[in-house]
Order: sequence, then C-alpha cells, then structure tokens
Amino acid sequence: MINGSHVSAEVREQAERPVREGLIRLLIRKLVVGYGKARRYYLSHFRPGYVRRMRALRRGECRRCGQCCSLFFRCPFLQEGNQCTIYERRFQQCRDFPIDERDISGPHIACGFRFDGRAGAGTTSDPETPPARRAPCESPSHRTG
Ligand code: SF4
Repeated sequence: MINGSHVSAEVREQAERPVREGLIRLLIRKLVVGYGKARRYYLSHFRPGYVRRMRALRRGECRRCGQCCSLFFRCPFLQEGNQCTIYERRFQQCRDFPIDERDISGPHIACGFRFDGRAGAGTTSDPETPPARRAPCESPSHRTG
C-alpha cells in the first residue's frame, strides 16, 4: 500500500525532473559555448597562422544576426539592431569569428559563413580583399558612431 507521503514524493520527483534536466542541458550548453569562447581567444592571440589559413577557407557572408555577440553572455557593447559600439576597436576574436567549422557547427548558432574545406583566396572575408567586397560585418556600415 502506498501512503500519502510516498505518493507526494513521487509526484514531486516527476514534477522536478524536467526542471533538473533543463538545468543540466543549460549547463552543458554553457560549458560548450564557454569552451568555444576560450578556444577562439587562444587561437586569435596565439595561433594567427591557423586563423589566416582557415579564413582562406571561409565562404558566405555575415547576416548581422548578432548571435556571435551573444554567446555565453550578450556583449555589453552590442546595441539594438545588432550594432557594435566599439566596431573600430573590437576584440581580435570578434574580428576572427567564425575561425573554423567548430564555431558554427553546433545547434547554438546559425551563421551566414561556412567552410568549404578547400584552400582558396579572394574570399569576401580575406583580409586582403578591398573594403567594398568585404562581408557586411566587416564593413563600416555595421557599426554605430
Ligand atoms: S558572423 Fe555569423 S553569427 Fe556573427 S553576426 Fe555574422 S552571421 Fe551572425
């Protein structure tokens, strides 16, 4: 026979399970996204050759969605309309996003860039490309004054 306290413990367990699972999923997502931020910081500052090689493989363009500015936390320099208030002085890892496939392969981001796996030059994100051909996120119009 099941007494009242046993039933209420089961009911409470069933009610708390989705909350607990949601918290675990959120924690895992934060860990993955946080690891990605740390990895990009390391690559941008200590592996510039790798970043340049991967940039040559990058295709597509920035959709100005602002998702890369809201990973782990929303960047305090991001204004309404996804305008960067420090665009000219933005951090190196912001300039480099996405560095490679890992930055855009997860479910947490739907970037306008992609990597085709072939070496190439003259992509829209190539640092040698004239400003008029750069991706929108790299053009001055993406910033605010
Ligand atoms: S780089 Fe990608 S994620 Fe960042 S704003 Fe542009 S399209 Fe969005």
